[in-house]
Formats: sequence, structure tokens, C-alpha cells
Amino acid sequence: TVKHSFFLNDETQTQQLAATLAQILHVPLVTIHLEGDLGAGKTTFSRGFIQSLGHKGHVKSPTYTLVEPYELGNKRIFHFDLYRLAAAEELEMMGMRDYLTPMHNQQVILLIEWPSKGEGVLPSPDILLKLSHSDSINEPNRRHVLLESQSPIGESILGAFQF
Ligand code: ADP
Ligand code: MG
Repeated sequence: TVKHSFFLNDETQTQQLAATLAQILHVPLVTIHLEGDLGAGKTTFSRGFIQSLGHKGHVKSPTYTLVEPYELGNKRIFHFDLYRLAAAEELEMMGMRDYLTPMHNQQVILLIEWPSKGEGVLPSPDILLKLSHSDSINEPNRRHVLLESQSPIGESILGAFQF
């Protein structure tokens, strides 16, 4: 397993991390699980990720829609927020399997907030990203991040990661 553990001092750094990661994913299908409490920065990370790849409009939190798709060049990004998912089986009805089938010459990237709600149905992640508030009340915008590989693909990606 490859692990990287460090601090993000503000929202901009979280978005820079997202942009950096987005640049080093050169595989047909990659799944990133985003863990952390409400307000930890999962959506902020996803927004930075999607915008860094050229998306111009809003990146809204898929709290009610559960998933928002983006098509950027040859990349298809599915941004999930499973906080309100009642049962993991709902994911099958949403056509989860279709999301996992890359078209030719396309790359599929899954960014999944609250993956624990989809346990058993979700694909296992390549990369786990855990965000947490740091303890210092003097630095409310500071977050801790742990990046951990969860598959051989994730290991090769994070092996080449520098921030
Ligand atoms: P989540 O999706 O994990 O519930 P959000 O990304 O929606 O969290 O919200 C994070 C909030 O914290 C935003 O209001 C953002 O502006 C703020 N924030 C402050 N510092 C950071 C940071 N370092 N990284 C990410 N968000 C931060
Ligand atoms: Mg969120």
C-alpha cells in the first residue's frame, strides 16, 4: 500500500491537490472514494477536480440527485454523493453497472462521497482519500488528508504522486 498523509491549509490547497491528482490518472477506469465528515471538503475536492479538467459551469453537490455526470474531452466523470442513499441496492437500479463500462477511447473516473452507504454494490476503490478537520481552532480552514492506495492501479498512481 502507498500512503500519503499531509495537511491542506485552505480551500485553494484542497483544489490544487485535486488538480494534481486529476493529472496523473492515466488508466481507463479509476474509482476514488472520498471519506470525511460533513464539511470536511469532499465536494470542494470534487469541484476542484472537475473544474481542473476544463468544466466551466457549476459543480453542484449531488446530494439529491445522488450522481452528476460530466463529459470532459475523453473523460467521463461521475460524481456521487451517497449520503441520502437508502439502501445500497438502489445503486443497481440507478444503473451502476453502466457507469463502469468505459466506451472506447474514453476514461471513466468515479468520485464517490459517502461510499460506506453503497457498500456491497460499489466497486472497490483504487484510491481512498480521507479528509478531516484538523484540531486547531486557530486554523479553521486546515484539513488533514490521507491518500491510500486500495488496488494495484491505485498503488501505481499514488506511487507517482507528489504534492
Ligand atoms: P463535504 O462535501 O465534505 O461535506 P464541502 O466541500 O461541501 O464538504 O464543504 C467544505 C467547506 O469547508 C466549504 O464551505 C469550504 O469552503 C470550507 N473549507 C475551509 N477550508 C477548507 C479546506 N482546506 N478544504 C476544503 N474545504 C474547506
Ligand atoms: Mg459533499
